[in-house]
Amino acid sequence: MGKYTSNTLQIYNTLSGKKEVFNPINKGAIGMYVCGPTVYSNVHLGNVRTFMSFDMIFRYFNHLGYKVRYVRNITDAGHLENDADQGEDRIAKKARLEQIEPMEVVQRYTVDFHNILNTFNFLPPSIEPTATGHIVEQIEIIKSILDKGLAYEANGSIYFDVLKYNESHHYGILSGRNIEDLIHNTRVLDGQSDKKNPQDFALWKKAEPQHIMRWTSPWSDGFPGWHLECTAMSTKYLGENFDIHGGGMDLKFPHHECEIAQAKAWHNHKPVNYWMHANMLTLNGQKMAKSTGNNILPAEILNGNTDKLTKGFSPSVVRFFMMQAHYRSILDFSNDALLASEKGFLKLMEAVTSLSKIEATEVVNDFDVIKWKSNCYAAMNDDFNTPILIAELFSAVKYINQIKDNKASINTSSLAVLTKTMQQFVFDVLGLKNATSNDQNSKLGETVGLLIKMRNDARAQKDFALSDQIRNELIKIGIQLKDGKDGTTFILD
Ligand SMILES: [Zn+2]
Repeated sequence: MGKYTSNTLQIYNTLSGKKEVFNPINKGAIGMYVCGPTVYSNVHLGNVRTFMSFDMIFRYFNHLGYKVRYVRNITDAGHLENDADQGEDRIAKKARLEQIEPMEVVQRYTVDFHNILNTFNFLPPSIEPTATGHIVEQIEIIKSILDKGLAYEANGSIYFDVLKYNESHHYGILSGRNIEDLIHNTRVLDGQSDKKNPQDFALWKKAEPQHIMRWTSPWSDGFPGWHLECTAMSTKYLGENFDIHGGGMDLKFPHHECEIAQAKAWHNHKPVNYWMHANMLTLNGQKMAKSTGNNILPAEILNGNTDKLTKGFSPSVVRFFMMQAHYRSILDFSNDALLASEKGFLKLMEAVTSLSKIEATEVVNDFDVIKWKSNCYAAMNDDFNTPILIAELFSAVKYINQIKDNKASINTSSLAVLTKTMQQFVFDVLGLKNATSNDQNSKLGETVGLLIKMRNDARAQKDFALSDQIRNELIKIGIQLKDGKDGTTFILD
């Protein structure tokens, strides 16, 4: 294994709060689990960023020659509206509101999720298990935790006993939360709950009569708690101790803290060696939220059909934009930032495409390609630092453009290394596609771009009848041109 091993890969581990040298449990192989979506609504852009971060990580491991088993689940039951084990099941609620079967909700939004991820050129995970497909495993884990005295039954529901667990283990090991603070800050039980303590969390919930998603168990007809499914599925496919567990920053507590507690209570091993968390996305400097309207759907970015953007952007431009930030940094999404990314992306693609037309000369190089290649790996080996990698790619772009202008030269062997390395990082690792690839959105952009150019030419020749005609005909089919100081853009009505 290992196409390139002269640098050591370091990963920031949430568990230790620092970067650590990555040592997989089995040489040459990696087990990685990432918490997938709860499929009760269209996937939002913040989730796309989280999954894209892990897609990039999965791609880089593949590129390095590791054999990766990447498990990303689908939550199709057990995720309640409220983290305190209260409220309706999110999927059951949607089914009730739309008067369809819960599994119709699951099917609809699983398909939507896959479509969006395909659009953004994600690699599929190795296994995509569902919570409802692993009820038996979850019941077995609950039995074992009950046997160890770390959970209790109350009115047909089973709760994890956090205080009891904390006597012999450390609850808060991942999130850094202190059990005393948790006790102090959690609101007093309202009398509706069967829990002994508010910190306790559900392993199994007895279903109310109206709750349609229910399974038989030794304790009641009910459904598993949300945290438990990830413990069941990760252990089943990756073992009691595996390499990497990832997810969005918001899952660190309580979800991942509870996963650690369940796993240790069950089999007494540290379940995960490296915990990785991807940061969130903001929109125009504010947290994205449906309730405030500060929200944008992935489809709206592609078609530009939103007042937040002046035009649509191709999936690769959006991907490039996201890769320009480190996965652990907050990334702010805005029209200006996307326009800037689009310029950079086109410049990068132009340089990569022109590599095939460059002629090598047997003279001294003006650029140390071997050193540059090593810098690219060093960036990625430093906790997947894609912004630094992209800066390195642009120093190569500058060199390529100098060669094209006859201001620099390159020899045959360096040209081969440069071409291969550029293609590997741009396409295989960052997962970008050339803008001229066969997707409808970029074709539309190119076609309208052509008409904008014809209109500019007409204006330059003072043929205002033609320039007005182009603009008016476009309006008729729902495309509005906008003249700005940086040129003309368009929006779709
Ligand atoms: Zn999870």
